[in-house]
Amino acid sequence: MQATIITIGDELLYGQTIDTNSAYMGRELALLGIRVREILSISDDKSAILEALARAEQASNLVLITGGLGPTKDDITKVTLAQYFNTTLVRNQEILAQLEAFFASRNRPMLQSNADQALMPASCTPLRNDRGTAWGMWFEKNGKVFVSMPGVPFEMEALMQQEVLPKVKTYFQLPVIMHKHILTAGIGESFLAEQIADFEDNLPTNIKLAYLPGIGSVKLRLTANGTNREVVQEALDVEVAKLVAQIDKHIYGYDDDQLEEIIGKLLTAKDKTLATAESCTGGYIASQITMVAGSSAYYNGSVVSYTDESKQALLGVKQETLDSFGAVSEETVREMLLGVCTKFGTDYAIATSGIAGPAGGTSDKPVGTVWLAYGSPTGMRTKKLTFKGNRKQNIQLTALMALELFRKYLIEI
Ligand code: ATP
Repeated sequence: MQATIITIGDELLYGQTIDTNSAYMGRELALLGIRVREILSISDDKSAILEALARAEQASNLVLITGGLGPTKDDITKVTLAQYFNTTLVRNQEILAQLEAFFASRNRPMLQSNADQALMPASCTPLRNDRGTAWGMWFEKNGKVFVSMPGVPFEMEALMQQEVLPKVKTYFQLPVIMHKHILTAGIGESFLAEQIADFEDNLPTNIKLAYLPGIGSVKLRLTANGTNREVVQEALDVEVAKLVAQIDKHIYGYDDDQLEEIIGKLLTAKDKTLATAESCTGGYIASQITMVAGSSAYYNGSVVSYTDESKQALLGVKQETLDSFGAVSEETVREMLLGVCTKFGTDYAIATSGIAGPAGGTSDKPVGTVWLAYGSPTGMRTKKLTFKGNRKQNIQLTALMALELFRKYLIEI
């Protein structure tokens, strides 16, 4: 069972739009055990589309296509598909009714080009689009399936979930494939690989391990396949348990867990509050924490104190501390933590001060030197870290390590 993905649009080729649709579709297909053989990004051009369709038909049983379904002249996917499948366009009354209701609800006239979106190739099954005006199309030819969807990512994603994936699951006989993601932080890919080399060597043949490194974190993915759901699940559980036992202290979560979400749950369970005092991270940690819905229940706020003056004025860092030890020092982050806890009346805080680069490094404090303080005013911990990334990476790494160390602290106390 193989699939080809075709993304249509000149903007993809010019580099103006990043092809996130392919990544999304690839991930969703992998979850069903369908291998993507090829991803073709092509121009809004009839011959390019016809060529790609023919190539995909040769190679795959399932072809997913996005883009070029809009009402404008450059959106030619629909007529080209009708030509490829040797069929004509017919007006679909259900789509027309939806379009009329759509324009009426917005008090806008429906243009001919809009009304033409109700034209569908006669041989396709239209796939309802609840989020836009371009419906999807499902074609079958000699046991192979071609699906065309709009290019707008959130429309395509809804169509995939509501229409395409359920139909693919019933149309094709698919293997059982299961994944488990184990999320680690603070340990490099090669160290991790060394630690679990024996485990990897002894995996059963139907279970594979993949390393998916991110900035400061490594996601381990175990993928098991077979024909019986219960048997596959059981085999996967056994291997996950073995792996977890070996690298327990580096694991912060599983599958879709987010570090900031886990911290939120821990704080809620303990009925405690948090504030942040950020110098080198400039509010990045605050931004991540507040991405979690409901974070106001445990997160009071942040002081972004980027200068010595603001560290003194807003957080009460002492002049002599800055003079004697510098802004990037254990003493300064300690005082930042105390100051922000007092200011916001929280139980805990995280404070950061470092040299993100590219300038500002010295021989004893090179670019990438970071001091962190985290915890409560009476039980705070500090840590010096040294990163080797560029400015953006150093900021991201600082935020990740600050959150990860604080998570461990919350578990230990
Ligand atoms: P609609 O009729 O809903 O506009 P469409 O099929 O005509 O859908 P396109 O005109 O091809 O869609 O693209 C609409 C927008 O969707 C583009 O401006 C682009 O930002 C985004 N888009 C298109 N293809 C992709 C892709 N492969 N990955 C990410 N974004 C995409």
